[in-house]
This record gives sequence, structure tokens and C-alpha cells, in this order.
Amino acid sequence: MEIFSAGISFIINYLVLYSYYLFDKKILTAKRTYAILLLSNKQQVNADKYRKSSRNIETHQNIERKGIVMKKVLVVVDMQKDFIDGALGTKEAAAIVDHVAETVKSFDGEVIFTRDTHGDDYLETQEGRNLPVVHCIQGTDGWQLDKKLQVLRTDSMKIFDKPTFGSVALAEYLKAGEEIESITLVGLCTDICVISNALLIKANMPEVEIKVIEKCCAGVTPQSHANALEAMKMCQIQVV
Ligand SMILES: [Zn+2]
Repeated sequence: MEIFSAGISFIINYLVLYSYYLFDKKILTAKRTYAILLLSNKQQVNADKYRKSSRNIETHQNIERKGIVMKKVLVVVDMQKDFIDGALGTKEAAAIVDHVAETVKSFDGEVIFTRDTHGDDYLETQEGRNLPVVHCIQGTDGWQLDKKLQVLRTDSMKIFDKPTFGSVALAEYLKAGEEIESITLVGLCTDICVISNALLIKANMPEVEIKVIEKCCAGVTPQSHANALEAMKMCQIQVV
């Protein structure tokens, strides 16, 4: 009888221990599954972070491979009367008008114009103190785009009026918009507003190809025009 009850108690103990074992095993499995889930979730988050950060530094070749349509932009800088045959006009500036008009006409992409724009207080501004020649006062004849370009301009071509050499608003507009393959700059003056805008855009969009068309630009002097082209070349802006 004693042997029998000892046997029963052994079996009961065994069953209790085995159920503990099974219970433990389940918890372990659950813990393991949870850990795997956590790990894969972490990897997913890291992958998402990588994708987001790499999107900003993608080159246009990568985007082209993915089949995203890239647009080209032409920026026509300050082709205004005062810089051509007005207050600050030069014969070199007058000589590029037809080339610029041809470029605008045949350009396959978005065309944007900029206008140097000052108020009546021009002579009290920093620029006015350094260059005391009143020019491009908003609303005056000298401030208008050259007539040959005015007739080519459609409503879809934006104009950025800028109070100084480089247009921060233009650079921000280009950066915020669609994917851009290349930005080409033409206009006046090579050594002031063309170079300022080219470098400003380059700083904002280092992966976009930036070009300047030599025969569609003129400087304050032929020498300063040539110097500016050299400076832009050194900063990896293509002079074509
Ligand atoms: Zn000015």
C-alpha cells in the first residue's frame, strides 16, 4: 500500500514539475518572439531613417534610373533696360540681348526671370553707398525687362524681384520644387548678379548641375566678366 501511494505521489510530482517546465518553456518562447519582433521593428525604423536621409543626397542619376521626370531650369538674370542701355548699360550687355532671347525661345524647361529692384531710398542702402548710380527703381522704365524678352515672356514664367544681388527667394523656390536636372544661368552682370545667384543656388542644391552660358552674359567690364567666369569654374559651375 505504501509503495502504491509513493508511486502515486511520484507521478503527481512528476506531472506538476512537467507542467511547470512546459509553462516556463512557453514564457521563454514568448519572450524570444517578443525580442525578435522588437529587433525587426528597430531595423525597420533604422531602414526608414536611412531612406529619409539618403533621399536628400540622391544624385540626379539615381533619380533618373527610377524613372522620375527631371526638369531643366533657365534663370535669366536682370536683363533690364538700366543694365543694357540705361543708367548702367554697356555695349557688351547690349550685345548679348539677341543671344539671350534665342536661348529663352529654344529652351525646353522652366524659364525664370529676376529683376534688380530698388526703392527711392536706393542711395541710402549699402549698395547705393558703394555704387551711387541710381538704377532699377521699381516701376521705372529702366527697371523693366528688355523689350525683346518681354514679348517672349509668358504668364507661366515667374519673375523674382530682388533687393540685392542674390535672390534667396529664388534659391528657396528651386530647392522646394520638383526634381531638377540642371539650372542654367544667363544675363547681367556676370561678375555681380550672375555669380551671386549661381553660388547661392549651388550652396542650396549641391547635387544639381549648374551652368552659365558665356555668350549670354556680360560683366561690368570685359575683364571682370572673364574673372567671374574663372571664379565660377573653380566652384564647379560649368561655363558653356
Ligand atoms: Zn542694383
